[in-house]
Amino acid sequence: MSGRIPAHIDPFRFADLGNRLSGTIPITELSRLCQVCNKANSTLELDMSFSKGDGPAIMQGNISGNLMLACQRCLEPMRHDIDLGSRFYFSRPGLRHNGIDDVDVIVVEGELDLYALIEDEVLLSLPMIIMHAARECPAAALMAEKDEAKLQKQNPFAVLKN
Ligand SMILES: [Zn+2]
Repeated sequence: MSGRIPAHIDPFRFADLGNRLSGTIPITELSRLCQVCNKANSTLELDMSFSKGDGPAIMQGNISGNLMLACQRCLEPMRHDIDLGSRFYFSRPGLRHNGIDDVDVIVVEGELDLYALIEDEVLLSLPMIIMHAARECPAAALMAEKDEAKLQKQNPFAVLKN
């Protein structure tokens, strides 16, 4: 499968069929991610394969893309590459699985909200503080100049004191 990833899937059926799901997720559908990035210039891609072990359904693969985030210092756009290798376990309610920590198993009733799951994963991967590297940030360069100017202003007084 390719193209646009469906928002809701049945991971158990996919696991039974050994499906692979590969395509794009429209950023505009991810409202929480839209709040921190420029949705017009951001992309998100998913490439997941499904399998069935002894217990839960397994979805594993890659989440990738380019997000245009706003730098918290200068508010200018800042490109942030996403490249996450992820694995998820799904189970129906009430089932237990040996060898897998319960906290890692996502209990799914009915269909899985795939977009919400992927959005969570991407949001968790973002840096706590979103900022350009100092040498790439116009605001940081400006601040450095100001500091420099301040230092030069202070110098004559320092000389007088001596
Ligand atoms: Zn910046």
